[in-house]
Amino acid sequence: MPERVYNFFAGPATLPYDVVKEASKGVVNFSNMGMSIMEVSHRSAQFDSMFCETQKNMLNIMGLSEDEYAVLFLGGGASTQFCAVPFNFLKNGMTADYVVTGGWAKKAVKEAKFFGDVNIAASSEDANFSYIPKKFNLTPGAAYVHTTSNNTLVGTQMKNFPETGDVPMVCDMSSGFLSRKLDFSKFSLIYAGAQKNIGPAGVVAVIIRRSWADQANKEVPTMLSYATHLGKNSLFNTPPALPVYVVGLVMKWILEQGGLEAVETANVKKAGLLYSYMDDSNGFYRGTAEKDSRSLMNVTFRLPSEELEKKFIAEGAENDLIGLKGHRSVGGCRASIYNAMPYEGVEALVEFMKKFKAAN
Ligand SMILES: *Cc1c(COP(=O)(O)O)cnc(C)c1O
Repeated sequence: MPERVYNFFAGPATLPYDVVKEASKGVVNFSNMGMSIMEVSHRSAQFDSMFCETQKNMLNIMGLSEDEYAVLFLGGGASTQFCAVPFNFLKNGMTADYVVTGGWAKKAVKEAKFFGDVNIAASSEDANFSYIPKKFNLTPGAAYVHTTSNNTLVGTQMKNFPETGDVPMVCDMSSGFLSRKLDFSKFSLIYAGAQKNIGPAGVVAVIIRRSWADQANKEVPTMLSYATHLGKNSLFNTPPALPVYVVGLVMKWILEQGGLEAVETANVKKAGLLYSYMDDSNGFYRGTAEKDSRSLMNVTFRLPSEELEKKFIAEGAENDLIGLKGHRSVGGCRASIYNAMPYEGVEALVEFMKKFKAAN
């Protein structure tokens, strides 16, 4: 194995190599304290300064103000937010609207049903989630509308979010978080498992509008209550220190790239290279998502047969192109090309795809 391969896994996923190298320093000696980030107290001044800077940089990248929004770094992954959101905000007798665009959205619906009525405002399950619905059947006065910005398993991405008026909008942004410019102020709560686009596994970022958090249900178990974590600036209990530290390095990296505008430009270029080659391959590589719903992050495709797909994945790995297998629920192939995937990685993949096609 070379020192570094091109990692196309959907999550945990590739990180900027500079971040990985920088993180290795903090794993040995954090902030010149003579201790690893894994050993320092989360009550120390040095840790606090890193933690607050990471929160600030994240809001800054999103163009949100600290007066209006708070950033929480919690455990339990995005999956715990599937239940925390309705626990806090689906009040007795109210309905929550869910836009169901993939397998993760379905899991979110399942949890919400424990707490109240769920209206499926739109779903593309009729076509294996291969497209993003354009019409939404919203409930007037709903508790909130839940959306998913990028559908990791099927490779689709939401371009136009529903106009929800006064109804708060919630978004699971796990697999596309900070990959493009968005009007983040449309959302009252955003959550993202870090391990897709902004860090290692073990922390979920929750960005919450303070005024909405104030209206949450009061009878929520302590650890699932946003009020608990807001009241202690996300340090009610021991935070996932090492993952947050790496997320902090990724925030600095995004700022160094030139923020979301630059990151989006790079992502459009990478995805464009891959999709346009696929579309020119005379149907050998067949994209599975509708063109107008294609994701910049997860590129899903099929080959002419399952045997060829197996061979493609195995030979890709031999060429240091790792993780090209599609999710087990959908099959086929998937190349995840998150922020940290360099353009050269996508070029190497396309070169390999050309050779593979010629040989098969
Ligand atoms: C991976 C993923 C999740 C689940 O994240 P965990 O942190 O593993 O719980 C939820 N939603 C989306 C869109 C994802 O891609």
